[in-house]
Amino acid sequence: MESRWCESEARAAVERWGERHGEELALRVYSSRLLGADPALVLHGGGNTSSKGTHQTVLGEKVPALFVKASGYDLAAIVPEGLPATDLAWLRRLRAVETLDDEAMVNELRAALFDAAAATPSIETLMHAWLPARVVDHTHADAILALSNRADGEACLRDALGADAILLPYVKPGFDLARAAADAAEANPGATAMVLVQHGVFTWGETARESYERMIAVVDAAERWTERRQTRPLRVRGTPTELATARARAARLAPLLRGALATASGDPDRPWRRTILRPLLEREVLDFVDAEGARPLASTPPLTPDHLIRTKALPLWLELPDGGGRDDEARRARLRGALAAYARDYEAYLERHRALLPPGIRPADPMPRIVLAPGIGAVCAGPDAKAAGVVRDIARQTLAVKRRIAGAGGSYAGLSERDLFEMEYYALEQAKLGRAVRPRLGSEVALVTGAAGAIGAGIVRGLLREGCHVVATDLPGARLDALAAELAKDAGPRLAAVPLDVTDPDSVSAAFAEAALAFGGVDLVVANAGAAHVAPLAELSLDAFRRLEQVNLEGTLLLLREAARHFAAQATGGDVVLVSTKNVFAPGAGFGAYSATKAAAHQLARIASLELAPQDVRVNLVAPDAVFGDALRPSGLWQEVGPARMRARGLDAAGLEAYYRDRNLLKARITPEHVANAVVFFATRQTPTTGATLPVDGGLPDATPR
Ligand SMILES: [Zn+2]
Repeated sequence: MESRWCESEARAAVERWGERHGEELALRVYSSRLLGADPALVLHGGGNTSSKGTHQTVLGEKVPALFVKASGYDLAAIVPEGLPATDLAWLRRLRAVETLDDEAMVNELRAALFDAAAATPSIETLMHAWLPARVVDHTHADAILALSNRADGEACLRDALGADAILLPYVKPGFDLARAAADAAEANPGATAMVLVQHGVFTWGETARESYERMIAVVDAAERWTERRQTRPLRVRGTPTELATARARAARLAPLLRGALATASGDPDRPWRRTILRPLLEREVLDFVDAEGARPLASTPPLTPDHLIRTKALPLWLELPDGGGRDDEARRARLRGALAAYARDYEAYLERHRALLPPGIRPADPMPRIVLAPGIGAVCAGPDAKAAGVVRDIARQTLAVKRRIAGAGGSYAGLSERDLFEMEYYALEQAKLGRAVRPRLGSEVALVTGAAGAIGAGIVRGLLREGCHVVATDLPGARLDALAAELAKDAGPRLAAVPLDVTDPDSVSAAFAEAALAFGGVDLVVANAGAAHVAPLAELSLDAFRRLEQVNLEGTLLLLREAARHFAAQATGGDVVLVSTKNVFAPGAGFGAYSATKAAAHQLARIASLELAPQDVRVNLVAPDAVFGDALRPSGLWQEVGPARMRARGLDAAGLEAYYRDRNLLKARITPEHVANAVVFFATRQTPTTGATLPVDGGLPDATPR
């Protein structure tokens, strides 16, 4: 590992933040970002940094201050506000206290903030306060953990790092660890680094650069030590699995697994608490799970207690027969057996340590967060795509370190079961996960067809607003790409844009497979893709009619068919919403091909509501009228239909819109957002309804469903 310190970047940081926050804090922010940028040092909000300086009070007095990373900030993107000033003199005095429980400690940390509104300082703040150096860095560097998490860890660390580094046996983070660390640092005044066995490493110095470069130096020494000893690389049993094969298997496994991981919610309308899955399909991971001796090596605790809350103590090791075809029943039985065994073990572990459960903390569900499967790789679970992505990154890192330990001939030694439990249910760690109210559709996945059109894009936005994950599909091309680009920033990992031709059965299956690889499966299918054509029957060509039949009718059939199969595999119910039209109830002259094919699709959806109800799949319809879209995304239907209608009525574009607005009872302009609200109404299952049509048309008596 090399230092990434760059003088010109450091100067740029001083220019950016120096005037307001001082040069020292600006450089502190810069080196924190350097640490945060390297996943081999810290992952996802892990690690913390500090610097000591002064704070000017409202009385104009300069008092000693500790600027320390606050929880909720990620080192990779930290800003000066992420290192709030605390009363260093007070924090130092706390060392006189014999012991302090977590809650009382957090209270002291909050009370020590100079800005009452600042975020809560890190739970490792006292360690930063009590180490005498001006600048202190803390990471969970892989290379250090590759040494400390070995049965012979202490001897290896000594050998690799020499006598200058302090080695501190594992102590649970919090007040006691801070005390132990401060005592050890005082006893070794020449030291510049401290390894917390099975946890991470601290370095310190008089400047941001000095402390940072000491971090890099110890990590580099540890890295080289392990690299030099790579004499026993893991060996794959038989021939390595092709990545494409693993992908195909993961796409088939994910819906089964996602269904089996869902836990009962107790709400009869929405009976499942679902998860989002993110498969980890990479060469290194595949070779690991396919290697000889992989299972005992992988079935060990995480590298650092920091990861526990995300990953639980142990992954599930899953060996499934690969029948190749649709042998879902046998596979599901095996899967359920493996999960039941995992859950039993987890419940027993909970029972053994129940006395340590902090008051007010409820036990987690007994399901695994990481599933390792030979021939597939890893599949990672979380309440949403972001959380599952964090688990995936941790899994990747964990397997890499365990592999290096084994390669260097070491035997992996994680924390004791008691330490694991204590950390998994550590109240402060629990708090880190956030108690934010989960959005209504926060763990759900929708697949929307025709997503790049006016109504489709509106539905995608509406679902994203509800926290839903969305697989936005449309024909491949610029329109779909533009939608993905437009929504990327707000949606983050909750959006996947997948090309889909609804008239092609293979394309429909492939889109569901992509959804399974992106999020684990699908819970809501919005059949929105459609095509329009204007011609009186006397002039309607058979080709034009068949084209509409293909898109509007066969497309719906293929989608409903695939959805039914998918929901059966997942076995946790589901929802379908078909975007129908007012024309089904009140057709228009010159609009035969559209009205007839949409009416047939409408009927298919009602059949689906009859057939799928026993599986708790609800199929409902929304029937909008006259949704014109906007200039950016005009309705495809109205582009097709509009010119003829304008000619017939002698209106311009605005006049046509006004005409349709004025013909409904409420004189309402119907927007894509209105249609999205109707979809969300069904998707959130607010009434026990299936096979129903909700008009979104401002009130058209002739078109009222009956
Ligand atoms: Zn730590």
